[in-house]
Amino acid sequence: MRKKLVVGNWKMNLDTTEALATIAALEKQVSASTKVETVICPSFVALEPLRKKLEPLKLKLGAQNLHFMDEGPFTGEVSGLQLRGLVDYVIIGHSERRQHFGETNDVIARKVSAAVRNGITPIVCIGENLYERQAGETGQVVQDQLAAALVMLTAREVSSIVIAYEPVWAIGTGEMARPEQIKQTIAAIRKTVHHLCGDSVAAATRVLYGGSVVSDLAADYLKIKGLDGFLVGGASLKPLEFSAIVKAAQRSSGRPAAKAARH
Ligand code: PEP
Repeated sequence: MRKKLVVGNWKMNLDTTEALATIAALEKQVSASTKVETVICPSFVALEPLRKKLEPLKLKLGAQNLHFMDEGPFTGEVSGLQLRGLVDYVIIGHSERRQHFGETNDVIARKVSAAVRNGITPIVCIGENLYERQAGETGQVVQDQLAAALVMLTAREVSSIVIAYEPVWAIGTGEMARPEQIKQTIAAIRKTVHHLCGDSVAAATRVLYGGSVVSDLAADYLKIKGLDGFLVGGASLKPLEFSAIVKAAQRSSGRPAAKAARH
C-alpha cells in the first residue's frame, strides 16, 4: 500500500522569517496524519530553522537540490552528505534546473545516486515540454528521462524513490494537465519501472503529479489511477491553499488523525 505524499516546493521564495511564519500558519490548518506524508522544501538557508518547527508537527523536510559529489572543491554547492540527517527528501531533475542550470540526464542520475547513498529519498522530476506533447512524444520522453535517471540504482533502491510527473507546460502556468493525460503518462511511467525493475518495484514506487495544482481540483485528481499525491509549487506558498490540498489527500486516504495526536 503506497502512502499518499504531498510535497511543497517553495523554490527561491521566502526568507527565514517568512518561512517560519508560513509554517506557523500551516500548523493551524494541517493535522498530523499517518496516511499522508507532507513535505516542505524551502531554500537551503531555511532548512535548519524549519527542522525544529516541523518535527513536532510531523511534517517532513526536503531540499530542492544537491551536488552529486559528497565533498570537495565545488564552491557554492551543497552535498547529500551535508544534508544527511537534516532532510528526508530532495527534489532532483526539476525542469527549472534542467532548463536554467543545464542539468543533463547524466548529472541527474549522479544526483539521484548521491541522494540514495546518503539516505535521502529523491523526488525525481520528469516531464515533456509543450512541443514534445504536441508531437505525441510524451511517453517516449518520460521513458527516456526515467531510464536515464535511474541507471545507477538497484531495483530495490528504485522501489523507495518518488517519481514526479511534471509536464513542463503546466508548471507555473495555471494550466493543469487533464486527468486523462496524467493517467496515461503515469501508466507509461509504471510500465517503464516494470520493464527496468520488475512488477513489485513498479507497484511500490510512488508517482506524483506536479503542475499548477490547486485545492479545488485536488480531490478529483486524487482519483486518477496510480497517482500517489502532488508536487506543489506556487500553491504551497499559501498556507490555506496548501493545507486544503493536504486535507484532500487525507480525505482520499481515510480520516486524518486528531490534532491531539500531535506530540
Ligand atoms: C513545481 O515547481 O514543481 C510546480 C509544480 O510548480 P507549480 O505548482 O507552481 O506549477
